[in-house]
Parts: sequence; structure tokens; C-alpha cells
Amino acid sequence: MDEILRAEHIVKIYDNGVMANKDINFAAKRGEIHAICGENGAGKSTFMKMLYGIEQPSEGTIYVKGKEVHLTSSAKAIECSIGMVHQHFMLVPSLTVAENVVLGVEPQKGIRFDKKEAVRITEEIAEKYNLPVPTNEKVEDISVGMKQRVEIIKALLKGAETLILDEPTTVLTPQETDELFEELKHLRDEGHTILFISHKLYEVKKLCDRVSVMKNGRMVATENISDVTETDISRLMVGRDVVEVIEKTKADPKETVLKVENITCRNSVGRKVLDKVSMRVRSGEIFGVAGVEGNGQHEVLEAIASMCHVESGSISLYDKDITNQSIRKIRDMGITHIPEDRMVHGTAKKFSIMNNILAGRHRAKKFTGKVLLNERAIAEEAEYLIKEYRVKCSGKNQEIGMLSGGNIQKVVVAREFSQDPKVILVDQPSRGIDIGAATFIREKLVQLRDEGKAIILNSADLNEVLGLSDSLAVFYNGKIAAYFEDTSLLTEEELGLYMLGVKKMDSAEIERRMYA
Ligand code: ADP
Repeated sequence: MDEILRAEHIVKIYDNGVMANKDINFAAKRGEIHAICGENGAGKSTFMKMLYGIEQPSEGTIYVKGKEVHLTSSAKAIECSIGMVHQHFMLVPSLTVAENVVLGVEPQKGIRFDKKEAVRITEEIAEKYNLPVPTNEKVEDISVGMKQRVEIIKALLKGAETLILDEPTTVLTPQETDELFEELKHLRDEGHTILFISHKLYEVKKLCDRVSVMKNGRMVATENISDVTETDISRLMVGRDVVEVIEKTKADPKETVLKVENITCRNSVGRKVLDKVSMRVRSGEIFGVAGVEGNGQHEVLEAIASMCHVESGSISLYDKDITNQSIRKIRDMGITHIPEDRMVHGTAKKFSIMNNILAGRHRAKKFTGKVLLNERAIAEEAEYLIKEYRVKCSGKNQEIGMLSGGNIQKVVVAREFSQDPKVILVDQPSRGIDIGAATFIREKLVQLRDEGKAIILNSADLNEVLGLSDSLAVFYNGKIAAYFEDTSLLTEEELGLYMLGVKKMDSAEIERRMYA
């Protein structure tokens, strides 16, 4: 097998100073399926984007078939026979399959689009690669798996010899996944190279010839798939160089505050994102939920916050059913939520810090005077919270959109924590914020726990979720795959094995541990 692609000493520093790729060396052979594995944030997408020409390396060189190339755009990458099958499909729903396939390279008859020729081209390529598609159907009417196939055909039509697939199976049913694997193997046997980004280690084992593992922006290993087990790959992916210690005493949980019983939820395309999930959270504990993104741990927070519809099962707060109540009602009952995407759900960018910090509380007793709002009480409270939460700003009237990410997060946290909640839902509390702000928020969470709040924490940062949580549920495929009543002896490595589906507890054991 000869080499088709090589990357040497690739460094990528984004404008915000994040070094997402650090001295990456990588080579792919002609006719292989090569997996790229790594935790969230390891730098996989960044690296792929550079191979596909939508980001440029800060340093380093890429070679295609031995020749140095400058992939300054995706058009350039395609010229160099590198194609990408996007996770979020880039097809035009109202056009037919054939029209989508030839988009950008439309056949003409005189000055008009030659539809017949488009169909012929599509059928020819579909046949050549054994990828049958319903040529004349509109893309909006075909299944997700079929859309993916159309994306692959598009790339092949443009001459792609190397195909990059970014977590292609997350959107597929098991049957569609099997079909995709057969198609990819066929393409490989025809001499194509597939770069397959995935978290699912059993898929990597089943499909790929080699695997490269990224960690913290570095390429840490490349192995023949036959030489490694799923456990080996998982060990290469997780485990940290520096472990930050989060100081806290042992939890002393009291009564059950929140009960989730057998809930099932679906996402907008009908896929089950939670599948009969049950858990209970007690006063005075930080209940961690961990998982690879998309396995249900974020969704369970959304279900509790009433941000998505619960199809079956129930959620109760102190034995009161709160399933599918309005978001407002849920908040009024004492469930507060620090959402993952603060800029979208957490704040009103154009409003002042004061308005954001008090949002939703203007009707609270202490802020209403006889007729009008008690402006002075509001201003005082805002000033107090800015000080208490160490928000760096020019004053309470500053627009929140002008603050740094860490300080915006502190405003959201100040607002949510100061409402005397019973339950606090925290989704990725330190994502995208500076270490100082993250430490501050972690300390606050421990303090609130000790005051008797029930806290549910979702974090992709394994060090954070392990360090902060008292008990921990691992989500896999919409279900709870493991529960640890005490996280003090759990290692990142062990946690990784459950997150990646290598290990699993049976439901009786989970129940025994949770309700011991
Ligand atoms: P992965 O695909 O392995 O999850 P990414 O390549 O997406 O990892 O991210 C690697 C790091 O680069 C992360 O810390 C992420 O926050 C950061 N990052 C990714 N894209 C950008 C961007 N456009 N601007 C700034 N930072 C980014």
C-alpha cells in the first residue's frame, strides 16, 4: 500500500489563542480505512478541517501523493482529491437526488440544465460504486442514511480519492450503519482511503484497518487495528497529564429531591435520545452525568428543565409530578438551570448586566414596590451579586455582550444560584471560560451542595466531572450504562471504558447501587 496523504508538524492556533493541534504527524495509505479517535476537544475536527481546506495550519506541511499542497479552500482540497462527507448534510432538500449530486458541476444542454444527463451521471456513479440511490426523489423525502449516501456520491463525482467522514453513524440506525460499513469497505477495496472519525470503539474495531489517537491536540499513537483492543484505544484516548485537584469534603446526602422514572425522549428527527432512564438525586449531593456527547447526559438535563418533551415516564420534585410542565413553572418550583450554550439560552446580549442578573425575578416580592418596581432594591441586588460573584465589568449597566465568556458565565451563575433553588442543573459549567472563573464556579457548587442543594452536573471535562461529582451516572446510547455511588475510587480510565461502551453494568447492579 502506498501513501496518499501525509501531514508533518502541523500546528493550529485559533484566533482566540487556543492551540488545537500541536505538532501533528500523520500519514494515510491508499486503500485503507483509518480511524481517528480522541475525546471531545482532542483536536480531531480541527485537523480534519485543515485536510479539507476550511482551516489553514499555523505551521506545518501537508503532502498529497508525495507533493506538498496548500489546501487554502475546500475547492483546493477537492482538486487534490480530498472530499468530506459532512455530519450536517449540505444538500438542498427541495431538489432531487440527481440535481443535488451534480450541484456545482451541472450538465448543460444549450443554456439549460440537462436533467436527463444529471440522472445519467448519478446512475453511472451509483452503479460504479454500488451505491444505489433514488435518483428522481427529492432529498427532503429520503432517509438520513440515503442522504449520507448522496453526500458520498457527490464527493466521488468530484474525484475524491480520500473521503473524510466525521462521526457518520451518529445519525444512522443500526441497519443503515451496517450498510454504510459495507459501502465503505467496498470503496476501500477499490483503492479509496477513508478517514473515519468516531468515538464508537466497537465500530472502529469492526470497520477500520488502522487507528490514530489524538489527545490534548497531539497525535499520540497510530496502530494496526489488529494489534489493539478497544480497551487499549480507550486508554490512549483518556488519562490526563495534569490532574487538577478539586477540593471538597465527602458528601452527606439527605432526602431524595428529584426522581426521574423511566423517561423516554426523542430528538427532532425522532431518534430516541433518552431510553427509559431512571435516577434519583438527593439533597446535598453533586450527581454527575458523564458520557460522550450525544449519549443522553445533556438531554436528561434538558428533560428535567422541561426544554424537551418527555414522551413517557415521569419526573418528580419532592414527589410532586413535574413532567412536561412549562419552563416558567419548573423554575418557579425551584429548579434552576445553567445551560450549555449561555449565549443562546442563557443571556440577552443587548441587555445590561443588571437586567440579565435579575431576569425572571422582577416579579419577586422584594423587587416590587406598591405600584412600580423597586428600582433601588434591584440595583442593590445587582451590585451585590456582581461583587459576590466577582464579575469583571465597568458597572451594572454595561451590556452583557461586551463581557468575556468567563464573566458572562458568572452573571448566569449569579442569577441562577441566587434564587435559592432546590435543584441546580449545570451543563458544561467551565466550557470556554478561563481557569479562574471555572475554579470559582466549582467552589460555589461545592458550597451550595453543603447547603443542601441537589446538583446535577454534566461536563465533558472528565477531570471536572470526576473531581466534582459525589455520585456519577454514565450515559451510553440514551441509557444509564453505569452508576457509581462513590466516585473517589473511580479513575478516568475506568470511566472512559464505560463512556465508550467497552464496559457496561447490568440494570440490576445499577439499581442496587443507586438505591442501596
Ligand atoms: P474534537 O473534534 O476532537 O472534539 P476540536 O478540533 O473541535 O476537537 O477542538 C479542539 C480545541 O479547539 C477545543 O479546545 C475547541 O474549543 C477549540 N476550537 C475548535 N474550533 C475552534 C474555533 N473555531 N475557534 C477557537 N477555538 C476552537
